[in-house]
Amino acid sequence: MSAARATMRLVLLGPPGAGKGTQAKALEDRFGVPQISTGDILRANVAAGTPLGVKAKAFMESGKLVTDDVIVGMMEQELVGKHSFLLDGFPRTVAQAVALDDLLGRLGLPLTGVLLFEAERTTLVARLAGRWTNPRNGRSYHAAFNPPKVAGIDDEDGGPLVQRLDDMADVIEKRLETYERETAPLIGYYGSREMFVRIDALAPIDVVAESVDRALAGNEAAR
Ligand code: ADP
Ligand code: AMP
Repeated sequence: MSAARATMRLVLLGPPGAGKGTQAKALEDRFGVPQISTGDILRANVAAGTPLGVKAKAFMESGKLVTDDVIVGMMEQELVGKHSFLLDGFPRTVAQAVALDDLLGRLGLPLTGVLLFEAERTTLVARLAGRWTNPRNGRSYHAAFNPPKVAGIDDEDGGPLVQRLDDMADVIEKRLETYERETAPLIGYYGSREMFVRIDALAPIDVVAESVDRALAGNEAAR
């Protein structure tokens, strides 16, 4: 698939720490398709103290989901006028997935793929606990698995990396519980669709990227 003709409307699904953001950035770099990370948008709003950020802050800090009405309203605005996109962190409930299908149906832009990144709990906890994030663009590193050239500094913009407050051990536990209860049911929602693909997210980053490429090539061939 060449960058020039990449039309992708993907949902990247999977638990916190599975590597969705890492692979979304890699896809964005390779194909020029924009990542839309609900977590990044919400964090920017919290930092700027907007009304949306004020509504979202307490939910995010405690590892709970922001309410569906707030998220769906935010995403309706985000998706207007976009033909290709990588949805990272959305949808996270069945109600959000129904709203997304509805919106994309009205726009005549159906999803082209749903990729489920699968990894087990011990790995997820280790990844989240060692994650360092660039708050300016959402890019993340890992202290051991994907370290920056200089500890605490982003390779690309040279600015500081931070550890997210919700990557502290007690909030990680809550987020994993929230995923199992509210987001894992999406596997049933999307699982029977032809463009649903499971990705082994336990592999190293470049191996996962190869699986993603194979999945996209398979979906493209099926269309
Ligand atoms: P998500 O967006 O699914 O929450 P991230 O992409 O932020 O996950 O990845 C979580 C952490 O794990 C980051 O520190 C990232 O550098 C690291 N990571 C991502 N993919 C892998 C991988 N395949 N192997 C090892 N570490 C990874
Ligand atoms: P993330 O960056 O994807 O790990 O998201 C961080 C936090 O933002 C989550 O723990 C939720 O509190 C909130 N959030 C992100 N996306 C959503 C969503 N689609 N629905 C509800 N809450 C969300």
